[in-house]
Amino acid sequence: MDKITTLEVKEESAKIRELEKQIYDLKELFEISKCLNSTLDYAVLIDSILLTCMAQLKVIRVGLFIRKHLDSEEFSLHRNYTGFDVDHAKVYAIPNNHPMIQLFAREYECYTLQDLKKKNIPFEGLENIISLEPSLLVPLHSQGKINGVIMLGGRIDTDGFDDYEKEYLLNVAAIASIAINNASLFEMTTTDMMTKLKLKHYLYAVLNEWLAAAKHGSGFSLLMFDVDFFKKINDTYGHTVGDVVLKYVARIIMDSIRNTDVAVRYGGEEFVVLVSRPGKTLAMKIAERIRKSIENSKIKYKDIVIKTTISGGVVCYDPVVDISDDVMIERADKSLYQSKQNGRNRITLSVPAIKPQNDAKVPVLYSIREGA
Ligand code: GH3
Ligand code: MG
Ligand code: MG
Repeated sequence: MDKITTLEVKEESAKIRELEKQIYDLKELFEISKCLNSTLDYAVLIDSILLTCMAQLKVIRVGLFIRKHLDSEEFSLHRNYTGFDVDHAKVYAIPNNHPMIQLFAREYECYTLQDLKKKNIPFEGLENIISLEPSLLVPLHSQGKINGVIMLGGRIDTDGFDDYEKEYLLNVAAIASIAINNASLFEMTTTDMMTKLKLKHYLYAVLNEWLAAAKHGSGFSLLMFDVDFFKKINDTYGHTVGDVVLKYVARIIMDSIRNTDVAVRYGGEEFVVLVSRPGKTLAMKIAERIRKSIENSKIKYKDIVIKTTISGGVVCYDPVVDISDDVMIERADKSLYQSKQNGRNRITLSVPAIKPQNDAKVPVLYSIREGA
């Protein structure tokens, strides 16, 4: 048998250590993949991507450029970045058609600013991003398209990234990219493209989740709105102007609620909001705020100025009455109808009541109270 020299033993051990590291990194990638693909929620996903980069590469500054909407013309720095000295008065965005994005799509690699310079990428339009002094830009690449860019800052332990780490980062980016793709497909199938609000089927999915959780939680509210005399706007100015009004109303609704609430285009000119926090005072306050904002708005389109109003119905989850999604929607619909009957441009609160029926105490839906 050949004699194994000390040098050979050392070389073999080094090889084994290297293989062990690769196996460890593969296992890590597998875990990252499981984690990133376990959610379709954008905010959770982005946090997970950023935390993964920080933990795996030991960086303290990390951010992600992503399209704000499905049809956005630029990649904007997502607000969940960490460590970068961002000036909130400035815009940090990369246009979809910037030569840097075209390079990323053509040559899928990680790039330092020096690498980009060598590739003759112009920095015009990227000044704000350059001022953040990124040490590495990692494209998110899926099916031949770029759908985001990870920006890394300096490292805790060493300078720069070696080739192995860059390849590892590209693997993380590929996984992140698939997860973002899935989330954006989900977004597409649950979002009304005109108003950017959620669609009715999504409302029912969330409403049922919230109803199940509310049995053990503190509850939530449902607001329903309908634009007053909307047909008249269409008839007077045409459908294009009608669409402008709908988009405007949707924007006011979005701007009046929190991230944890859900805004839905329920039908043509009907909207629903699920308010994640309980309490009729809060629900009425939000509904009134939306109603007043619309009443006080002048919606402009070319040389046309339109004023409009909405009516609303408000329902606060009641554990006795709200035994199904349909009951809650019906209560909101009835209250909304009451607002219409009583002259429009108002909000009506649905008040649950237990009324005795045939001597038995059977929960019978509700009575209705109008007012702010
Ligand atoms: P009310 O105050 O009782 O709600 O009266 P209204 O005129 O708003 O109600 P109606 O239900 O008669 O009219 C709703 C109109 O909304 C009819 C429909 O053509 C229009 N509509 C539905 N979807 C859209 C849309 O996407 N764009 C535009 N421009 N109009 C739409
Ligand atoms: Mg209607
Ligand atoms: Mg209407």
